[in-house]
Order: sequence, then structure tokens, then C-alpha cells
Amino acid sequence: MKQSVKMIVGNWKMNGESTGAKEFERLAARLIEDPCRVDVAICPPATLVERFARMGGPAGIGIGGQDCHPEPRGAYTGSISAELLFEAGCAFVIVGHSERRQLCAETDAIVSAKADAAIRAGLAPIICVGETLAEREAGEAVAVVRQQILGSLSDRLAGREWALAYEPVWAIGTGRTPTLEQVAEIHAAAREAMTERLGDCARHTPILYGGSVNVDNAREILAVENVGGALVGGASLKAEDFIAIIHAAELALVAAGAQG
Ligand code: PEP
Repeated sequence: MKQSVKMIVGNWKMNGESTGAKEFERLAARLIEDPCRVDVAICPPATLVERFARMGGPAGIGIGGQDCHPEPRGAYTGSISAELLFEAGCAFVIVGHSERRQLCAETDAIVSAKADAAIRAGLAPIICVGETLAEREAGEAVAVVRQQILGSLSDRLAGREWALAYEPVWAIGTGRTPTLEQVAEIHAAAREAMTERLGDCARHTPILYGGSVNVDNAREILAVENVGGALVGGASLKAEDFIAIIHAAELALVAAGAQG
């Protein structure tokens, strides 16, 4: 996780059977042929982690888990620990994705414990936050995201590698995205809450945007202040689309360099 570059992370969710490995192979081959200036990672289903870690290494593709249990081991049928992910070849793990917050009733306290587990195991957690449509429409988006950040970050993150992902729940998988002004507003508020919670060391922690990022909107979203990259769901499943988003991130970096 280089903090001066954009970070593009694909969240494959529960997808990737049969054709998944071919798409991953295509992505790895393209990145070997044409290395990029952004940090690229894929979070596949747990069954594909070890294989993708082996295939992705030479292409510089980091591999992440999609969730982890707070405990290192034990009688937790169906769960996977951060330590197991690390041993399988992960460098990252997503925690607090809204699908888990909603479907598995994960609270900020649980998300915080999972992020701590990631740090304990040597993984960089990607901590997700984001408001629902009802909260956005009630004018509560900033307050909700701020609260989630304050509740989901622990002192253990100070000085460690981690990232925040702002993912408005209503933008995930819907084709809808916030305006660039709304993205800028939340990312600025997120930065403020992160530094309030952890101090100056959170000033350069990447804040990713996630929610219906695609080939057409990536470049403008990635150019918004405080947007350090993207967490990409649907558009990460096809190598061609994901590569186009990686190129958009490179263009955003070049434009930022030209301005600064
Ligand atoms: C996600 O689920 O993390 C996500 C961003 O999904 P999508 O890009 O499909 O909206």
C-alpha cells in the first residue's frame, strides 16, 4: 500500500466460479506486459485466495480477503481468521462491508475488532463505512459516516497500514453514484474524523470511494480531493473493465501531478 499512489481494489464478492480464474489470468498477464503506477488488489472468495496469490505475485497484484473473524482460531464453523488469510497469501482484508453490516448485523464494535484482528495477523484492513439512502435523504450522511468511523477505528491502527472505504449503501450495485461534490464532502469529513480519532498519522491513510465505479465514471471520481482510490465490485469481474479503471487511476495521478 503506497500512500502516494492510487489504490484500485476489486471486490469479487461471491463470484468467480469457472471463468473467474481466466479473468484473473488475463488481468495478471496485462499487468506484467504493461506495469502500472497504481496499487492493484483483488479480494476473491476465500477458496481462490491461495491460487490467485500465486498467480498474481509476478504481476504485483495484492490479494485480500472479504472478511475475517476477530479471533485467531477456534470453534467458529464457517468463519475464517485473519491469520488463515495471511498464511494463504493475503496482504489485505475488507472489514465492515455494508453487505456484512446489513446481512450479518455487524456493528461498529465488531468491525473494529475485525480490523484489530487484521493488524494482529499482519494484514492491512480496508474498513468500509457508508450511509443508507434513507440516511442520505434525511441529511444525515456526514453524521452517519463520522459516527461509523469513530466507532470502527481502534488505537491499534495508529501508524499501521490500513485504508478506509467510503461506500454509500445506495450506490452499491445500483449504477447510482453520489455527485462529485457529495463525494468530496464525505471524504473531507472522513479525513477529519480519522485524524480526530488517530491523530496526524491518519492524514495520509488512503480513503477509497466505492459504489458503482465503472469505466465511464472512474476518472472523475478518482480526481476528487481526498479520494485515494476505488473499491470496485461488479466492474472488477471483467479484466478489460478493471484494467480501464486502473488506467483511469493512472490518468488521475498524472493530472494531479501536473497540477501540483
Ligand atoms: C462493493 O460492493 O464494494 C461495490 C463497490 O460494488 P459495486 O462496484 O458493484 O457497486
